[in-house]
Amino acid sequence: MGRSSETVIDRRIVVIGAGQAGLSTGYYLQREGLRAGVDFEILDANPTPGGAWSHRWDALTFSLVNGVYDLPGSPKPVADPDEPAREVIKRYYGGYERDRDLKISRPWRVVAVESIAGDRFALRHAAESG
Ligand SMILES: Cc1cc2nc3c(=O)[nH]c(=O)nc-3n(C[C@H](O)[C@H](O)[C@H](O)COP(=O)(O)OP(=O)(O)OC[C@H]3O[C@@H](n4cnc5c(N)ncnc54)[C@H](O)[C@@H]3O)c2cc1C
Repeated sequence: MGRSSETVIDRRIVVIGAGQAGLSTGYYLQREGLRAGVDFEILDANPTPGGAWSHRWDALTFSLVNGVYDLPGSPKPVADPDEPAREVIKRYYGGYERDRDLKISRPWRVVAVESIAGDRFALRHAAESG
């Protein structure tokens, strides 16, 4: 890991990661009436949507995956069985975050979190991101 820098995020809630778990968390926070980019912030180290799926190899086609859990409030993707699963999931997750305006901040690799005064967090992140 190279240099890191520190940013103060003035949010009550910070979600680290925009894979299946982070996107689902965003959905439930919005359902509680919280606003993305105002009341909560989702940070993701990847430059594009897809979480861990965006790092899968091409040979893992959609027909070969064990199954994909649907994100809350959105049906599972329907896709060509021969298409690489990572492309299908990138599209599925990407559409999900766009449609719900989850305002994911990326690429943003958090390396440390510190609670500071009030409701604020100081997040240390890798210098190459943000
Ligand atoms: C080889 C393999 C095959 C699999 N096949 C299937 C399958 O067929 N079907 C299935 O349902 N599941 C499968 N899985 C499991 C599936 O990939 C995981 O269950 C799912 O990705 C978990 O979602 P997640 O949101 O917890 O984590 P992830 O998808 O890993 O998302 C985490 C996100 O957080 C980001 N992040 C991590 N650390 C930081 C940080 N410090 N700062 C900022 N961002 C950060 C990452 O960049 C990533 O975008 C497979 C897993 C593996 C390893």
